[in-house]
Amino acid sequence: MSLKQNTKIENNGIGWCFDNSYARLPESFYVPIRPVPVRMPRVAILNYALAESLGLDLHVLTEDEAALLFSGNVLPDAAQPVAQAYAGHQFGSFTLLGDGRAILLGEHLAPDGGRVDIQLKGSGRTPFSRRGDGRAALAPMLREYIISEAMHALGIPSTRSLAVVTTGETVMRETPLPGAVLTRVAASHIRVGTFEYIALKGGADGVKILADYTIQRHYPELAHEDNPYLAMLNRVIARQASLVARWMLIGFIHGVMNTDNMAISGETIDYGPCAFMDEFDPQTVFSSIDYHGRYCYGNQSRIAQWNLARFAETLLPLLHTEQEQALVLAEEAIRMFPDIFQRYWMAGMRKKLGLFTEEADDHLLIEALLTLMHKHQADYTNSFRALSDEHRPENNLFRDAAFAAWHAQWRARLSHQAEPLQASFDLMRTNNPAILPRNHRVEEALNAASEHGDYTVLKRLLAAVAKPYADVPEYDAYRTPPAASERVQQTFCGT
Ligand code: AMP
Ligand code: MG
Repeated sequence: MSLKQNTKIENNGIGWCFDNSYARLPESFYVPIRPVPVRMPRVAILNYALAESLGLDLHVLTEDEAALLFSGNVLPDAAQPVAQAYAGHQFGSFTLLGDGRAILLGEHLAPDGGRVDIQLKGSGRTPFSRRGDGRAALAPMLREYIISEAMHALGIPSTRSLAVVTTGETVMRETPLPGAVLTRVAASHIRVGTFEYIALKGGADGVKILADYTIQRHYPELAHEDNPYLAMLNRVIARQASLVARWMLIGFIHGVMNTDNMAISGETIDYGPCAFMDEFDPQTVFSSIDYHGRYCYGNQSRIAQWNLARFAETLLPLLHTEQEQALVLAEEAIRMFPDIFQRYWMAGMRKKLGLFTEEADDHLLIEALLTLMHKHQADYTNSFRALSDEHRPENNLFRDAAFAAWHAQWRARLSHQAEPLQASFDLMRTNNPAILPRNHRVEEALNAASEHGDYTVLKRLLAAVAKPYADVPEYDAYRTPPAASERVQQTFCGT
């Protein structure tokens, strides 16, 4: 079975090839709805490189045409706009949600054979809007653009950002703010919360349809397994374990790991109050709405496991005809998560420390370093980067006997390996980024754009974070942690 149905693929304008498989699913999965046109769309930023990789040519458009397209005022011919239905556990409580301010235009088939969702975010009210206005403010949409593109450059699976346009309208938040629409590109928008919604509304038959669809779309190689649904559960568990390990290895805090913000594809999705940690502290929280630290840096793997348990529950009717057996299978799968996560995390940490081989005590070496970093309130990113360059004076991170002892132990550990020392430092430099979109730099770029219409700060930041592992003297200033006055204490959803 193939998802593809359109034999005559529309290929209009910039080269869209829409084939809208989600819109062919049962009608209870979504609501057909068009974006609400905006007053005066203007391009804020276009992602030419991403467009090119998708086989789309933005150069054929004038700025005005691009603004019309990426605001949703003009739709591609073969788009079939829908608001997707989903539910979610938000901070632990179950809620019915759905796209309250986003519209899936359809799925574009890229030249490499990939199928991606093209979604407008901030595109107006839908039946799922509840009390919201269906709109988005400019700064949070630019924030998603910056961070998703930085994640991609860091090699971490992520949704991407194709465009941001301003709407010429004001959205009311705590204060009036300029409105905007983001065009998001994703492997799909199927979430844990999508399964929760269908399990509730469509029962076992609905879940089977969604599960079969998801397997076809993301895990086609599992279709012929004896128990494809269990195989899918295991694969999703592995992808999430890998994803969250990778977040943590670079100091990323998602900030709002509700089940509606966990994608079954394994991509990072929904950049709200996310942030990169400056000084290392597992308790770090930035999100203004995370009062109890549920989604703090150090909790992310536990939360991922909790969310995956919610996913597994929706699959119970498919895992086994005997519900008791199904429960055993689901629990077994979920119980594996911490070990799988730990394996990914350890593998990543070894690379961060230049280790090619595995030794039994490696975790002690790693934990000792993190403990020292915590004690010295050391900058997470810069500490690892400094260790990656033996010729930098900062390689000696702390004036501290405990660190000197650690350093000697680490160097002794490196010397146990067959690989030359240089190979270790090369490995470290491709796993310890020099440049991340630090919060104070993101704020600076958003303020310039949102308050003064000045996009030069943003574009410079984007250029810097596009090469996170390179030593580019021109971008050295982006490596500096925030001064006390620049420190960002809280990040906001901006909804
Ligand atoms: P998020 O916090 O972005 O994951 O969104 C959670 C839910 O709130 C989703 O159903 C969104 O569609 C909805 N939502 C967020 N902001 C708005 C808004 N301004 N208007 C309508 N719905 C919204
Ligand atoms: Mg969300």
